[in-house]
Amino acid sequence: MLASLFGSKCFICKKRVRKSVKYFNDQMKLVKVCYQCVPYAERRAFIKR
Ligand SMILES: [Zn+2]
Repeated sequence: MLASLFGSKCFICKKRVRKSVKYFNDQMKLVKVCYQCVPYAERRAFIKR
């Protein structure tokens, strides 16, 4: 569980990702989202960093 905080895991699909986009979620927490889930993050109105 702790490793998920530090590893590069997609916040949405939970898959390990090499490249990710950083977003702030609705709790203003920094999360990583893989490119496949970017449209989903945009729909959820995550703030891009
Ligand atoms: Zn993903």
